[in-house]
Amino acid sequence: MTRPYNFSAGPAAMPEAVLQQAAAEMLDWHGSGMGVMEMSHRGKEFMSIAAQAEADLRELLAVPENFRILFMQGGGLAENAIVPMNLSRGGVVDFVVTGSWSQKSAKEAGKYATARVVASNEADHHTTLPAPAGWELSGKAQYVHLCSNETIHGVEFHELPDLKALGCDAPLVIDFSSHVASRPVDWSRVGLAFGGAQKNLGPAGLTLVVVREDLLGHALPVCPSAFDYRVVADNASMYNTPPTYSIYMAGLTFQWLQRQTEGGLTGITAMEAKNTAKAALLYDFIDGSSFYVNKVAKECRSRMNVPFFLCDESRNAAFLTGAQAAGLLQLKGHKSVGGMRASLYNAMPLEGVKALVSYMREFERTQA
Ligand code: PMP
Repeated sequence: MTRPYNFSAGPAAMPEAVLQQAAAEMLDWHGSGMGVMEMSHRGKEFMSIAAQAEADLRELLAVPENFRILFMQGGGLAENAIVPMNLSRGGVVDFVVTGSWSQKSAKEAGKYATARVVASNEADHHTTLPAPAGWELSGKAQYVHLCSNETIHGVEFHELPDLKALGCDAPLVIDFSSHVASRPVDWSRVGLAFGGAQKNLGPAGLTLVVVREDLLGHALPVCPSAFDYRVVADNASMYNTPPTYSIYMAGLTFQWLQRQTEGGLTGITAMEAKNTAKAALLYDFIDGSSFYVNKVAKECRSRMNVPFFLCDESRNAAFLTGAQAAGLLQLKGHKSVGGMRASLYNAMPLEGVKALVSYMREFERTQA
């Protein structure tokens, strides 16, 4: 069966090979007589699945020894509260606002800390990124937060800022929900990274937190124990029942990522090369057309989420109906910005982007 190409921003398409493996193991995982959903999280079978997933992720993203990998719940939005509860010590925290997600993060942190917006691209309608040299950092902030890929506005930090070079010793917190595992991470510039799994890693329900060891142990008294990073880390992410099936699916996805090759590259760098090529194909087509437009500055365009507009918006409904009929699903833009959005996460093959571009070309021709 050929499946349609699914451009959802999340929950999003999964690699077909992963879905097939999960289907084959659904009733009986490795001769255990149980499906993964039916296993105790404290049994040896699931403990081995979780340990393998963690080890594979550590290898894949080259996570250093002094960082802990936590499998949590609550999604990115819960982390907007959990991070300040754990890291702010009730003091000042700095936010770089570049779109809806970092805006939400800053607002939520204000419940637990003094949240300051130190840079913003709002005046440019979130189509640029403020250069780090111009950030008005507090100096005494407990951490600096940014969203390294704004899923709705389609802006991505292709390089993380070096806060030390800006004279700032505070740890950098990144929300990497919508580009996790799409490219390597420079951990020397990061104190904590968090992201929901439902775009690039697996089903919804799992939230990944990668946190530097020295940042543990400072939770505010109000922080629920299940969200205290120290407690979660000390209990190997099993203080409460973890989202077992989502961890299993993410584990299969990590193995799929490890198997990726491109030119002479393997694993995450191969995936990054594929993602770069996919995004370039779509952006080049849009830029060469007078029928479609993407408003984001070229140097900060997201490789994962490509928002675009038809110059004549009265044709939006026809575009989406035709796309659906052509096997190109979930292209409608986020309601706050309108237009279209094509999410090109890891599981989207180059063929899917080629199919989209050829549909867009054909749609334009028939409308002329
Ligand atoms: N941050 C980013 C960058 C996101 O894209 C999303 C979800 N689209 C969230 C946070 C919120 O995640 P959740 O719905 O899992 O809480």
